Amino acid sequence: ELRLEGMRRTFGNLNALKGIDLKIARGEFIALLGPSGCGKSTALNCLAGLLPLTGGSIWLDDRRIDTLRPEQRGFGMVFQNYALFPHMSVRRNVAFGLMMKGVPKAEAARRVDEALTTVRLQSQADKLPGQLSGGQQQRVAIARAIVIEPPLVLMDEPLSNLDAKLRLEMRAEIRRIHEGLGSTTIYVTHDQEEALSLADRIVVMREGEIRQVGTPQELYAQPAHLDVSDFMGYRN
Ligand code: ATP
Ligand code: MG
Repeated sequence: ELRLEGMRRTFGNLNALKGIDLKIARGEFIALLGPSGCGKSTALNCLAGLLPLTGGSIWLDDRRIDTLRPEQRGFGMVFQNYALFPHMSVRRNVAFGLMMKGVPKAEAARRVDEALTTVRLQSQADKLPGQLSGGQQQRVAIARAIVIEPPLVLMDEPLSNLDAKLRLEMRAEIRRIHEGLGSTTIYVTHDQEEALSLADRIVVMREGEIRQVGTPQELYAQPAHLDVSDFMGYRN
C-alpha cells in the first residue's frame, strides 16, 4: 500500500500541493486528473523523489520513503517527451537503468528482452529511437520504466505527444501492460476520457488539492462538486 499523508509542496509563496491525503492499494491503476497547473506533475515528481516535499510524508507498506533518494525508491517513470538517448539503440536505452544498478550482463540482457516483449518491440531492438514512430518510442520509454521491476510506475501525460489514433491504441496497450505487471500505476492526465477508460480510481485535483476520489462509475454518476461535473462534461 502507498500512503500520502498531508503531502505539501510550495514554490516560494505558491502552494502547489496543499496537503494531499491518499491511500493506494497494490495493483491499482490510479489516474490523477485535473486542469493545467493544478499540481499533477508536482505530485508525481514528489512521489518519484525528484522534488523534495515541504511538508507531510509518503509511506510504502509502512516504510517512510519521502526521505529516500529517487534511485533508492526505484520507481519507474515515463515522461511526456519520452526522454530517450538518441545515440543509443532501443536495447541499450532499456538496459541503461540496469547497467547503472550493476545488474550482471546476462541477467540484464534477459530482462531487457522480457521488457521489449511486453511492449511488443522485440523486432526493433537494434534500431535508434529516431528510426521509430512516436508510439514505438513511447513504448521504449515504458519498457525502460518497467525493466527495473518497480513497485510503482509513474506516468506523466505519456500519450499527449501522439496523434489521436495512436493515443487510443497506446491507451489499451498501457492498460494491458499494467495488468501483466501487477504493479501499481499512477497516471497523470488532463483528459477525462483517458482517465475514465483507463483507471480503477480517479483522483480529481484542483489548485493543489484533491476535489474527489472515486471509480469511473462513481465519478460519472455522482460528481460531488459542480466543477467536477463541468469538467466531466456534464450540462444541466
Ligand atoms: P500541466 O497539466 O500543465 O502539466 P500540472 O497539473 O502538472 O499542469 P504542475 O506542473 O504540477 O501542474 O504545477 C503546479 C503549480 O506549481 C503551477 O502553478 C506551476 O506554475 C507551479 N510550479 C511547478 N513547478 C514549479 C517550479 N519548479 N518553480 C515554481 N513554480 C512551479
Ligand atoms: Mg504537468
